[in-house]
Amino acid sequence: MPGFERLGEEEKRQILDVLDTGVLFRYEFGDQRNGIYKVKEFEEKFAAYTGTAYGQAVTSGTAAVKVALKALGVGIGDEVITQGFTFVATWEAILEVGAIPVFTEIDESLNMDPEDLANKISPKTKCIMPVHMLGSAARIDEIVAIGDAAGIAVLEDCAQAAGCRVKGRHVGSIGRCGTFSFDSVKTMTTGEGGMIVTDDYELWQSMSEYQDHGHDHRPNPGGRGGEGRRFIGFNYRMMELQGAIGLAQLAKLDDFVATQRRNKDRLREIVSLLPNVSFRHLPDEAGDSASHLAFMLADSEQRRRVNAVLQEEGVGAVCFGENSWHFFPQWEHLLAGATQAANGWPFNREDSAGRITYSQDQLPDSMQLLERTLVYPVMLNMDDNRFAFIEAAIRKAASV
Ligand SMILES: *Cc1c(COP(=O)(O)O)cnc(C)c1O
Repeated sequence: MPGFERLGEEEKRQILDVLDTGVLFRYEFGDQRNGIYKVKEFEEKFAAYTGTAYGQAVTSGTAAVKVALKALGVGIGDEVITQGFTFVATWEAILEVGAIPVFTEIDESLNMDPEDLANKISPKTKCIMPVHMLGSAARIDEIVAIGDAAGIAVLEDCAQAAGCRVKGRHVGSIGRCGTFSFDSVKTMTTGEGGMIVTDDYELWQSMSEYQDHGHDHRPNPGGRGGEGRRFIGFNYRMMELQGAIGLAQLAKLDDFVATQRRNKDRLREIVSLLPNVSFRHLPDEAGDSASHLAFMLADSEQRRRVNAVLQEEGVGAVCFGENSWHFFPQWEHLLAGATQAANGWPFNREDSAGRITYSQDQLPDSMQLLERTLVYPVMLNMDDNRFAFIEAAIRKAASV
């Protein structure tokens, strides 16, 4: 799964390029930097890799979602629809811009259910945010068609899906924009970092300004200090060292994906030994980034029995139905509207429809599905011994 397994000479060389100039800042220092602009180069290469025109690097995948929502004009009182199975970061970013997250069910793709999406669109919906969870795509064509018909922008959260394609197109290039994370456990990593890609120049320009205190980045005689601004921004700038690592990791991304596919195929063959097993629906199997293997058992009872054996054998799988960071019913702080703001913002607004409430049991289909689902992350470094070890455990689990 993660690029951290393959940090090596390429990353070191890239970092030394930066340290040799002594310029850590992505802007300015023209005399000193010998033409080295790692973040800018990373943006251009990453956008090209995904088949989009523009890339905007930022400090994290969470910041990427927030910056994208800002540029899309999402704000207080708006609703953003996302799925109830995602990492908390997705909806933290929605709350950060003052909007309210609305959650859909997932289907057997383990991503946004387009039918439920259609039910949840309201006059307040300002953005639709499917997440390509666990390395594999949502039914993105259907989701974008629903967004287009309603005139609502689709932002793809691709934090977990670098290298994933749908019918030849990279995820993130299908909606209005797409966001990526390069945190320490993602398929490619810069330690911390994120990126937004889009074909929309105006949208990209807004992101570029917002993530740098509003700086318009137009050449002028006063340099950076003389730059203008159109609106109030913030600081989510990526630094040169991250850009340098990103360039080295991006160059290896297709190799990571190829290795993941091979390892996932072997893992899937082993897991197939379990009775009643079925696998996650992949809208485009050939485009799968293969960072995870998700499989379903007959019911939560069998899932519990099987995973108890696997855990005993030291190869327990993840049950996201019970995971407190990735699944709606386990987000007790969200359910309670627990923000730091003393006035309850953004849940308690006089100009909104009053307090938005969530109930733990509002996504019954997702609950049923995730309760019988188990997930193995696919590592890059898996040798014959490791597969044999897992196979022995699976064979044991198959008999309970
Ligand atoms: C990791 C992740 C993020 C956030 O990325 P960070 O770089 O850790 O801030 C957002 N969405 C999803 C689905 C993620 O898995």
